Amino acid sequence: MSLKRIGVLALQGDFREHIASVQACGHEAFALNRSSELSGIDGLILPGGESTTIAKLAKSFDLFSPIQSAIAAGLPVYGSCAGMILLASEIEGAAIGQETFGGISMRVRRNAFGRQVDSFESDIEFKGISNPPIRGLFIRAPWVESVGEGVDVLATVATDGVEHAVAVRQGSLLATSFHPEITSDTRVHRYFIEEILSKG
Ligand code: GLN
Repeated sequence: MSLKRIGVLALQGDFREHIASVQACGHEAFALNRSSELSGIDGLILPGGESTTIAKLAKSFDLFSPIQSAIAAGLPVYGSCAGMILLASEIEGAAIGQETFGGISMRVRRNAFGRQVDSFESDIEFKGISNPPIRGLFIRAPWVESVGEGVDVLATVATDGVEHAVAVRQGSLLATSFHPEITSDTRVHRYFIEEILSKG
């Protein structure tokens, strides 16, 4: 496979960890914080962090509409946690005036797993990734309440006997509630690069 060049939105959050994960897959990654850097990339990653802060900073850095246009034009994007929220068409529990880039037809609930379980780990089966499980790290994570047409649910987690979607894909857009970038397992990044970005 040819070498891919991936921008990781570097305004706030764990962008360094995503850069390291992409590099561990043998591809090129860099901290993206200017709109001019959107041209010439094969894919974009939206990191975990605080979705409200990332959206606000994207506006101040004149990146908000350029990213929306790039998504609309078909740029492959992977978002983890806050990045998932930023890819959602609708948010439940949004901060006042909170906006998203959108792209994936889904309703996402922020901080869905509740305060008392702010963070937890869970073994996950991920459709399209062999040799389960994937170790999912959830940090004040969202879950996906509902999805629209064309959205594939790739993984779920059960709480109180109810399954909640925690990984989804719509075309060239991928989102996970959990953070593979803070583990040494690169399979989700590989899935993004090999199954989405290279075949899309
Ligand atoms: N709760 C955060 C938000 O709403 C996401 C947390 C995370 O990215 N770990 O943006």
